[in-house]
Amino acid sequence: MSFTNNTITFPELIRLKRDGGEFSDEDIKVFVQGVKSRTIQDSQIGAMLMAIWLKGMSKEETLRLTREMMKSGEVFVWPDEWLVVDKHSTGGVGDKVSLPLAPALAACGCKVPMISGRGLAHTGGTLDKLESIPGFKVNQSVEQIKQILQDIGCCIVGQTESLVPADRVLYALRDATSTVDSLPLITGSIISKKGAEGLKALILDVKFGRAALYKDLDSAHHLARSLVTAGNNLGVKTGAVLSRMDAPIGRCVGNAVEVCEALDCLKGRGPDDLNELVSTLGGYLLWMSSHSPSLENGKNEIIQKLMNGEALKKFEDMLVAQGVSADVACSLCADGADYFQHMKQATHQTELKSQHDGTVLEIDGLVLAKVLHRLGAGRNKLDEKIDHSVGAELLVDMGQQVNPGSKFITTAQSSAHTNIQTSRKLWLFTAATNSRKSHV
Ligand code: URA
Repeated sequence: MSFTNNTITFPELIRLKRDGGEFSDEDIKVFVQGVKSRTIQDSQIGAMLMAIWLKGMSKEETLRLTREMMKSGEVFVWPDEWLVVDKHSTGGVGDKVSLPLAPALAACGCKVPMISGRGLAHTGGTLDKLESIPGFKVNQSVEQIKQILQDIGCCIVGQTESLVPADRVLYALRDATSTVDSLPLITGSIISKKGAEGLKALILDVKFGRAALYKDLDSAHHLARSLVTAGNNLGVKTGAVLSRMDAPIGRCVGNAVEVCEALDCLKGRGPDDLNELVSTLGGYLLWMSSHSPSLENGKNEIIQKLMNGEALKKFEDMLVAQGVSADVACSLCADGADYFQHMKQATHQTELKSQHDGTVLEIDGLVLAKVLHRLGAGRNKLDEKIDHSVGAELLVDMGQQVNPGSKFITTAQSSAHTNIQTSRKLWLFTAATNSRKSHV
């Protein structure tokens, strides 16, 4: 038997939610503190998570949960004059936006303590992408984060031990109890961590579409509203952009190749859709935080920093501050760089060709991500090793005409993986589903 306070036991608290009741401030405080201190058994936390998944939470309960989770650990406090901002994406295929966005914002004078995650299942993780660069260290202490922000203005790091410890426990148990996809639990998890970063402004990139967590616009909108409400309630100016996630962002998917595409973007020659997303999300942040008088003005400032090399210089400095040798960082950021002089290149490449005449009407990011996952680019458990060199480059755009024999994609994989034949079949199948309409 575990007691929550003098009047209610934890089993009674579970029953309260199971039967559709509403938690008070005190109930939520006891739950989160019990989770953090591990005085509540995992089985009880699991039961509570399932009760929340089934019965949901009111807006007020969700806000209470988010605030309590944030307060379960350290909350960063920055100098008043710092304009501390960040972005969160609900995850997609080929989403390398953080890599150019953080340094572009730093070049505009913002401070960006970007705390990112690893990829799981078919979704990529920003930390995995950056670890394709030899020497890059995602683990930085709070003191190191402060120093990097002071000196450079941006860092991209993993979650520190001291930040929202309750989320670490809850997230692992949500994964084990199939309770990840609960609106209040997602809101509490994402926004508590952003609140603990001590931000002035936060922009959320909420994806919808076949390769996103939420497939339709309505459910993505619902999530966006919940996240925006919780962020603003914590005193962080929060906004959301709803963006399509059917086809990958840009042309490259996979850890090392996405770093290459991000570097191209920082050199002013990124693909249009990546440039648009980076400048829109950055523009909103600059506008929301009153740095820019309008969204258009904010977008233009971000584009300017990508074009004039200032964002690239910030990225180079960030690489060095996070452990990359100055020579490697300088070489990667040089014009005409051979990226694979420094990053591991896959030993085998496969070019897939269309079997039919047709027009490319759809590019299925989910299929692509699943194939790459099977080739070793992704993991099923958080401690699994991945192959950073596995990736793919799309060779066609939407609306493009293809003929029999037209190459539409190149995949790169290591010889250690033997399932390319299965994957190739999947590709050919998807390419051949309709002779007038090539799905790739
Ligand atoms: N990312 C998080 O940090 N938490 C969630 O619940 C979902 C995505």
